[in-house]
Amino acid sequence: MTALKILIVDDDAETSELRQLVLSAAGHSVDILTSSTQAIERLEQNKPDLLITDIMMPELDGLELTKRIRQNPKLEGLKVIVMSAKAYEFDRKRAVDMGADGFIPKSIKIELLKEQIVKIVEDKMTLTYWGVRGTLPVPGHGSLRYGGNTPCVTVEFMSGRLLIFDAGSGIKALSNHLMKLGRPRLEAKILISHPHWDHINALPFFVPLYIPGNEFEIMGATQGDKSVREIIAAQMDDVYFPITLKEFGARIYFRDLRQETFTIDNDIQIETLLLSHPGYCLGYRINFKGRSICYVTDNEMYLDDHPSFNPKYIADLVKFVNGADVLITDTTYFDPEYKTKVDWGHSCISKVVELADAAGVKALHLFHHDPDQDDDAIDRKLATAREALTERNSAVDCVAPAEGGIFHI
Ligand SMILES: [Zn+2]
Ligand SMILES: [Zn+2]
Repeated sequence: MTALKILIVDDDAETSELRQLVLSAAGHSVDILTSSTQAIERLEQNKPDLLITDIMMPELDGLELTKRIRQNPKLEGLKVIVMSAKAYEFDRKRAVDMGADGFIPKSIKIELLKEQIVKIVEDKMTLTYWGVRGTLPVPGHGSLRYGGNTPCVTVEFMSGRLLIFDAGSGIKALSNHLMKLGRPRLEAKILISHPHWDHINALPFFVPLYIPGNEFEIMGATQGDKSVREIIAAQMDDVYFPITLKEFGARIYFRDLRQETFTIDNDIQIETLLLSHPGYCLGYRINFKGRSICYVTDNEMYLDDHPSFNPKYIADLVKFVNGADVLITDTTYFDPEYKTKVDWGHSCISKVVELADAAGVKALHLFHHDPDQDDDAIDRKLATAREALTERNSAVDCVAPAEGGIFHI
């Protein structure tokens, strides 16, 4: 991280000086202003990289200042961090809505401040794995290292926004984690690839759905004439489960997706692609500030000599994941194993390697492992994929993330 030119605007001079001291010691050059009314002029003159502003100030408050900055073309590219003694979720959200890059409560320990600032300025997405196995949860000795839960993956943004991909049994651990954090008025988008059991079955065990004040949007592909709402409600029919959809305490919205592109809050772009799998199954690509993560499961790439091999589909898929920073994808089978499971809707190592290499993705994450594969088998799958990439002289970095694995993109 290079040294930053920072302007602190806060009517509390003492606090500002302490921050100036700490941030200067970390190599940044820091200027202080105690009156917000001069802030715009100072920003236009000195062109800092980052503004740190308080919310509650006389005359022009921090949120209004942030809003004016975002409307000023001369200040394009300026990063804004709002700091406030009021650490309410409402204020955090309001700051982000006004265009702030991040929010830091004033109660933060001063030694953590410089770290937090760097994180907000870099604005990385945090990719976390909560379940990496396909088809069926596999508890026991064979899954201690990679974990035994079915798909659930989150992408969290520095602004606090949260995307949840699939609601396999891994979502239970995510639920515990969020409940422990106790974030009030939690908002998240839940993006379902498709409604096979291993991708939706643990949704009713996601406790934040039952908490009033929280808000979720559940999206996914319709299945012919069945909407996402109907699909989720059906698995909570009282024959199968004692709690119905109506008992969710949070505000829940449903959204039926097709192959399309849409944006969340103007800066997170989501692209979807219909995958090669029984029924309608969507792959997702998240584009954010020049970086991208693709979540492509479940997906069958047929071998080239199979009658169902479709070069147009493969070309579309390569285009969809092209240049991604991370491709998370269905690598259910070893090649010999796949030959006995053609038409089951999943891919084998060699086809996944081919895709990652052809699309020039930076990192390939092997995902959705067969329930009959133990940890050692996943190790072998990873070694096989890496060997195949080396043979192709490929620059793709290949990993097999385990449950709890965290990546900053
Ligand atoms: Zn699956
Ligand atoms: Zn499936």
